[in-house]
Amino acid sequence: MYPNDRTANWHSGQGLWDDVPAEDWNSWIWQLKNRLTRVEELERHMTLTPEERAGCRFANKRLALAITPYFFNLVDREDADCPIRRQVIPRGAEMERAPEELLDPVGEEETMPVRGVVHRYPDRVLFLVTDRCAAYCRYCTRSRLVSNAQDYNFHPEYESGLKYIAEHPEIRDVLLSGGDPLLLSDRKLAHILERLRAIPHVEFIRIGSRIPVFLPQRITPKLQEIFREFGPVWMSIHVNHPKECTQDLYAACERLSFAGVPLGNQSVLLRGINDDVETMRSLVHRLLMMRVRPYYLYQCDLITGSAHLRTDVKAGIEMIRGLRGHTTGYAIPQLVIDAPGGGGKIPINPDYVREITDTEVVMRNFEGREFRYPLVHARPAHAEHESPVLEEVFM
Ligand SMILES: *Cc1c(COP(=O)(O)O)cnc(C)c1O
Ligand code: SF4
Repeated sequence: MYPNDRTANWHSGQGLWDDVPAEDWNSWIWQLKNRLTRVEELERHMTLTPEERAGCRFANKRLALAITPYFFNLVDREDADCPIRRQVIPRGAEMERAPEELLDPVGEEETMPVRGVVHRYPDRVLFLVTDRCAAYCRYCTRSRLVSNAQDYNFHPEYESGLKYIAEHPEIRDVLLSGGDPLLLSDRKLAHILERLRAIPHVEFIRIGSRIPVFLPQRITPKLQEIFREFGPVWMSIHVNHPKECTQDLYAACERLSFAGVPLGNQSVLLRGINDDVETMRSLVHRLLMMRVRPYYLYQCDLITGSAHLRTDVKAGIEMIRGLRGHTTGYAIPQLVIDAPGGGGKIPINPDYVREITDTEVVMRNFEGREFRYPLVHARPAHAEHESPVLEEVFM
């Protein structure tokens, strides 16, 4: 049962696949084998708009179409604006390229010392271990390589990646990503984790995965065992809308938590999907109920073909203003822009600091009221010797 949810239905169930034996439905292999990957399969269950049909026709040249039966059940088949539908069903607009858009929007290719390892920050690396995902997000930052629709031909080179990490003692943090690392077999994943654990300077291992959202069935007892054995492993999941917070996701997060995996969430701000405060508030509240701490909220990268999903940066700032002080501090993600050209993630914040003068900092609180706090150096240098407390002690 769900803890106190006031606004919507968290139940998912087998929906369109009600006649499938529960044993199959609950098997992640079955879910993967039965993904919807062709326009005809979608049209067996729903009527696509002409815009969507055009998008599906081109999908195999840009980013493959794939949706697990579990996640497809969350699509509102009557509503073309459904926030789930817009994340996974292609649209013709993906074929348009705005002048500011890039194939490698955050400049990863330039900081790849070996294929699959992005070493942008001094102490940590992004280690891409696969180019496959359980389902494909239409706004994927790595659509140039993910799903291999654009002939990038990414072949995970674990050995050269592991070797690079082992030879660079400054790397204390390894982030496994892709594609989705949880699509690897248990054996492969355990092997990579074991190898990383054996490198003395690697202190911190984390995984970025949307599998709990697309394919919660993947979080099996065997996977829990792997995390217990090679943990601590942290995980960032990727939830964008409260409708994704089903009982199945709740249960998957519980299994991960019980296996000792601390959970964070990354969301992408998407126009018409989650760019209003009410939706975001509902999402972050549900994340907390699932033991997931909102981590980053991304301004959508300048991905080729994503203009129809991008919001104005100011909308993100207003979103944070609408959350900070108005809800639990734990619920508030850090808004970031992953800077085009490889600058890394840069925090973007509302201007709570109005002014820093010679003597004080002038601030605005969440209600817009002004407050002041004195600067330390405004006091004369000898002030501390005149402190009444000290005088008492030394007299
Ligand atoms: C996001 C990212 C990281 C991790 O950044 P954190 O702020 O530590 O979460 C590391 N390397 C690359 C290339 C990244 O894009
Ligand atoms: S799950 Fe992540 S890597 Fe895969 S398509 Fe979505 S955003 Fe891209």
